[in-house]
Amino acid sequence: MRKIVIAGNWKMYKDLEDVRAFCKAIASSLKTKDLGSVLPILAPAYPFLALMQRELADTLVKVAAQDVSAHAEGAFTGEVSAAMLSSLGLEYSIIGHSERRAHHNESNEIVREKLLLLMDNGIKPILCVGETLAQRDAGETQKVILDQLEGCLRNVTIYGAEDIMIAYEPVWAIGTGRTATGEQAQEVHRIIRTWLKNTYNDVLADELPILYGGSVKPENIAGLLAMPDLDGGLIGGASLKADQYLEMIDIALKSRK
Ligand code: PEP
Repeated sequence: MRKIVIAGNWKMYKDLEDVRAFCKAIASSLKTKDLGSVLPILAPAYPFLALMQRELADTLVKVAAQDVSAHAEGAFTGEVSAAMLSSLGLEYSIIGHSERRAHHNESNEIVREKLLLLMDNGIKPILCVGETLAQRDAGETQKVILDQLEGCLRNVTIYGAEDIMIAYEPVWAIGTGRTATGEQAQEVHRIIRTWLKNTYNDVLADELPILYGGSVKPENIAGLLAMPDLDGGLIGGASLKADQYLEMIDIALKSRK
């Protein structure tokens, strides 16, 4: 049975005090809760990774990075390598977020380099894919998603479904308050699962978690999680508030899986 992932992407929000307060607000409640098949993940900015690991050590929350360098090591001022993240004991890192693709010109090839470095260092990539509004309106959604999957995963061996997650994040739904309907998300999640089946195998296609991201919040997450191929959310804005994050975990606990 696939887990339900409630992953928060904090982007460039929250300072030290905010991070501490958030951890304090969720730690006691998550310590006592049986999370069953729900996997909570939180991705703060780099400076707070180790602090959050410590603050949430008694909970089942996995702390993740939001990105990683495409280089293994060297004179790359400001970059953080996969080996560095691994030395912290991190298990997950987001890559290929549309904000990185748009503002930092990250191509599928760069995202692939990052993915390989993460996997080499034992970190599970949360690979983001998604179409823009113009691409959707032009009827290109399927082509864009398949191009991104083929580009980012070209000749990449995936041994097991726990090695990687995919997040479908329609660019037009990120931070806009405009969520894809459950049916719109399901349609693309099915396309991704079918691609996994044709490219890898039935077991991988069946077991690999595919998250949805784009204005997910407590009010709409139940409808999204009801979709058969949707295994959780990659959540920006609504994950910044401790009460909303906990509420989404509660809703996930009550959902079908
Ligand atoms: C995101 O940051 O990946 C995201 C989906 O943001 P939001 O939930 O705010 O749309």
